[in-house]
Amino acid sequence: MPKAQETVLEIDLKALKHNFEHLKSKLQNNTKFLAVVKAFGYGSDSCEVASYLQELGADYFAVAYVGEGVALRKAGIKVPILVLHPQAVNLKTLIAYSLEPNLYNAKIFKEFIDLASSEELNNYPIHIKFNTGLNRLGFCENDVEHVVSEIKKTDAVKLTSIFSHLAASEDLNEKTFTLNQITSFNTISKKIIDRLSYKPIIHMCNTSGILNYPEAHFDMVRTGIGLYGFGNSEKENKNLVPIATLKTIISQIHNIEKGESVGYNRAFKSNAFLKTATLPIGHADGIGRQYGNGKGFVTIKGERAPIVGNVCMDMIMVNVTDIDCKEGDEVIVFGQDTTAEQLAETTNTISYELVTSVSQRVKRIFVK
Ligand SMILES: *Cc1c(COP(=O)(O)O)cnc(C)c1O
Repeated sequence: MPKAQETVLEIDLKALKHNFEHLKSKLQNNTKFLAVVKAFGYGSDSCEVASYLQELGADYFAVAYVGEGVALRKAGIKVPILVLHPQAVNLKTLIAYSLEPNLYNAKIFKEFIDLASSEELNNYPIHIKFNTGLNRLGFCENDVEHVVSEIKKTDAVKLTSIFSHLAASEDLNEKTFTLNQITSFNTISKKIIDRLSYKPIIHMCNTSGILNYPEAHFDMVRTGIGLYGFGNSEKENKNLVPIATLKTIISQIHNIEKGESVGYNRAFKSNAFLKTATLPIGHADGIGRQYGNGKGFVTIKGERAPIVGNVCMDMIMVNVTDIDCKEGDEVIVFGQDTTAEQLAETTNTISYELVTSVSQRVKRIFVK
């Protein structure tokens, strides 16, 4: 691995393959694998990640918004792409790029069927989401009759899948709630299948659902965070490898005398001599201000260096008093040893937020 010469996000494709294979090993042979690559592939790079997963045999991709799906098509992704949260204004673009909509309420359901009919589409794949307790997006059980009868009236669309989303699959204290979600989704699915002459794909599990509720794998699973190396528990993390390492370097070292301050608003005032290192990474790169003032830390020469004072837009200063380091040395913000999950915990957030925060200003490098 070449040493960093600027702030970079290194993406380890071997780790991605490992995570893909580990998650697949949890499935029955005929269970389809949908890879969630929304939000730039959880901050990594959706096109590179999806291209590699396409090679490895992923059956489906999902993104949140139409624009994200367009980017994948432009990068040569041929497998079906489910758009989890399309907006009406983008439905024509969605069709132009052969993306498949999740239709989650009566309004977008009608808008899409009207559009598909007026464009004289035939059997265009659609996906219907049912709310079983997350209370975020989706039809409810009482809507089944309306949805099925509208779909049966037209040749413009075909019900490719029905799905739901678990609210607390990683939290085993909520097992009863989750089992109720699964039961309720089973009931809805059966009602729909009974009314159709073909069987749509049924899916419910995200990463923690795959790991904790094998009875809910159905025909397909949707995994995001697991592919990127996090299992939402100490036990599951051991089997996965974080794919992204955020690295930077030391730009400058300062000797701070007792009584001096460091950074904006003089947020840090020293009561003893210390040595700081200034790093070319700040809140515009994804290290939020909440990591400042000793909460967050980086690793230099294997040792922890806490952030001193406020996080600036383009820089942070870290305490290297007891670390033998010099300008130009490499710095690890998070990676496979100190993980994004561990750094996220210092500010009471989760790996998902930290990894998706790494801004587009940070160069991505791919390691095979
Ligand atoms: C983001 C998302 C997922 C992936 O969840 P992970 O916990 O990252 O595996 C699955 N399904 C839906 C509907 C999502 O929005």
